[in-house]
Amino acid sequence: MLGEITGMVLMSTEVGDYDRRLVILTKERGKLTAFARGARRPNSPLTASCQPFTYGRFTLHMGRDSNHVKTFEVDHYFQEVKQDLEAYAYGSYLCEMADYLTHEGLNDTEQLKLLYVTLRAIEKHKIPYPLIRRIYELRALAIDGEEIQVFSCVKCGKEGTAYVFRERAGGLICVDHCMQMSEERDILDGSTVYTLQYILSTPLERLYTFIVSEKVQMELDRICTAYMQEYVDKPFKSVDFLNSLS
Ligand SMILES: [Zn+2]
Repeated sequence: MLGEITGMVLMSTEVGDYDRRLVILTKERGKLTAFARGARRPNSPLTASCQPFTYGRFTLHMGRDSNHVKTFEVDHYFQEVKQDLEAYAYGSYLCEMADYLTHEGLNDTEQLKLLYVTLRAIEKHKIPYPLIRRIYELRALAIDGEEIQVFSCVKCGKEGTAYVFRERAGGLICVDHCMQMSEERDILDGSTVYTLQYILSTPLERLYTFIVSEKVQMELDRICTAYMQEYVDKPFKSVDFLNSLS
């Protein structure tokens, strides 16, 4: 059976002498694994396309045990992401996280759209990569059903004026309801709260259009690191390298 799908290559690994095994996040069938026979032979039409980040339309032969890529018409190579070491590291991290958050056969168009616009932001490089990373993490976890509560206090439901972040509680707590207010510096900057609210409510096409102060970036780093530790039970291979860059 032949099927046509649209999607993005998340991972591409070498198998056998000449082949590749691809993990593709697709619009129509969620995540799937497919083999690209001969993709590592010189002059194979699949050589350039069967790389991470490549987005386009595939025809697949869908067999009982495995899928095989027959043709791949590329819409976007994300060449700039592939060619720059730092951009590549961030791109790889996004793909690894997308792979973690999606499942074979389950439709996940929202994750695919988010990944696409995020790679576009890396490619354009108008806003810093560390900020892109945090925006992506917050939105990807929200799509996955783990949205941080940032619009009101998790404890009392009221909109406060000063908040602290508690990953265990799943979001912001107004200072009046925070039992263990350890230190003053725990209180989030108002701009950080606004940034979190913006990230979690703005349409995808306007997601990567702002920059933040150093202080806000530091608070986003602290919040996302703690939240990821709480809700993602897998260490990502690409994260060590990423952290070594910042
Ligand atoms: Zn409260």
